[in-house]
Amino acid sequence: MLNYKSLMEKNLTCKQIKIQAHKYGIYADSVSTAAGTLFFIARADGEKRLVAQGSEAVLSRFEGEDVSSGVKECYLNTNNCKVMREYFPYMSPSPIKGHSISIGLGDRLGVATPGHLRIAKKYPIFPVVAQQSMRELTLTGRTYDDVLTDASWAVFQEGYKRGFGADGDHLKSAKEIEYALGCGYTMITLDCSETIDNGIYALSPVQTKERYMQLDEGYRNDMEAKYLGKNIVLRGGTQLENTEQLFYQTVLVYKGSIELATSIYHDVIKKQGRHIDFEVSLDETLSTTHPLAHYIVAAELSEKGVDIASLAPRFVGEFQKGIDYIGDVCAFEKDFAIHSCIADHFGYKISVHSGSDKFTVFPVVGRITNGNFHLKTAGTNWLEFVRMVAIDDPSLFRRLYKFAVRNFEGATAHYRVNATLDKFPDIDKMADEELPNLFETEMVHTRQLMHITYGYILNEKHENESYAYKDSLYKLAYEKESSYYNLLEKHIGRHIQTLGIQPY
Ligand code: ZN
Repeated sequence: MLNYKSLMEKNLTCKQIKIQAHKYGIYADSVSTAAGTLFFIARADGEKRLVAQGSEAVLSRFEGEDVSSGVKECYLNTNNCKVMREYFPYMSPSPIKGHSISIGLGDRLGVATPGHLRIAKKYPIFPVVAQQSMRELTLTGRTYDDVLTDASWAVFQEGYKRGFGADGDHLKSAKEIEYALGCGYTMITLDCSETIDNGIYALSPVQTKERYMQLDEGYRNDMEAKYLGKNIVLRGGTQLENTEQLFYQTVLVYKGSIELATSIYHDVIKKQGRHIDFEVSLDETLSTTHPLAHYIVAAELSEKGVDIASLAPRFVGEFQKGIDYIGDVCAFEKDFAIHSCIADHFGYKISVHSGSDKFTVFPVVGRITNGNFHLKTAGTNWLEFVRMVAIDDPSLFRRLYKFAVRNFEGATAHYRVNATLDKFPDIDKMADEELPNLFETEMVHTRQLMHITYGYILNEKHENESYAYKDSLYKLAYEKESSYYNLLEKHIGRHIQTLGIQPY
């Protein structure tokens, strides 16, 4: 590959640079001009840089190194990104509002977005390419600024101008939400799991009633007047099951979630003075969300003036990480149709979490919602990365895999998975060419193994404090990025196609 610097002396136009870009390690779609300055992203000495050629007044705004008169190599950092957004507003995230199909594409390492955008260029989806939970931030050693910055540079690299979202995912407190919003995030997913009192479902009807009677009388009267024994019919005619016991359970289980979402909305979200896609998530818990519970939560939030963009119930069946749906698809369809109907009734989107690889239910999701939903994926993008490692550096992959097996038991403390230690193949008996097969859809055990151990893999250190794997993985990500982009395009493409989304 030739060095881009030799191209700069020729005084070429944008168009001429684009044509020759690939020979010089320049990302053709990034070649742009603004404020009389030429900008593009180039590969330089093991790292990508923003190259700027123009007046000193513009160049001096960026942190980097002067390479020659009027040419500067700038770092792809947060400060430079903020300056770039003034010239290229499409590098800023924007709300989903108005886009019927939106897909969350969590990118734990911060190297997947170009692959995601190559798909988003072909299909009418709104990509939420910056999407990370606090737990993911901790395990990957990244900040909300880092996540959004990496995504924004990828947007510039790919010249993606249709807009993208940034989701502070599964946040639980005002403090966490304010942190994400302060970094410019456009979507907030409030995780209500800690307020969902699942223990209630273990109580007998008598015990449930007793607990219910301990609630404030005024509150009980208000809720009973609205919901107890009421015939609840949704737009479109669907009638909800509403027994006395279900009513008491719902009030007891979800009272805290309603209060949390209400206070977060009024005290934090609304005060932003800009539109935020506010999602309420009830999914990360042990109990399936009963349609009546979904309805009452939604009705209460609506009455309290909480404007939600989407809600994520926990559907029947199992949505385990990184593998296909486990359960009866017909039962899912019935359950999903009612939840979808409730979402329609209140005018927000249904959100499907743990949406990686749920191929058997995607056709249902696409059809029943009539192409109006939010879907979240994260783990599968990491798994495609590990698949790339298996293809492009089998010996590194073998070390990763064995390390993952050794840490599997510890990792299961944080995830609900069906995988068990005895199901992992002995890879010493496998040829290098066979290793990528470990990521095929039916290889649920190895997929889950590599999925749940990512935190261990990224944080493992040698005695001298250097990372055991992390640096090698980032190095490979740089060297083999097109291999990774291709895998993502294919795999996320399969998600999109199974959802029944037609290309432009
Ligand atoms: Zn979730």
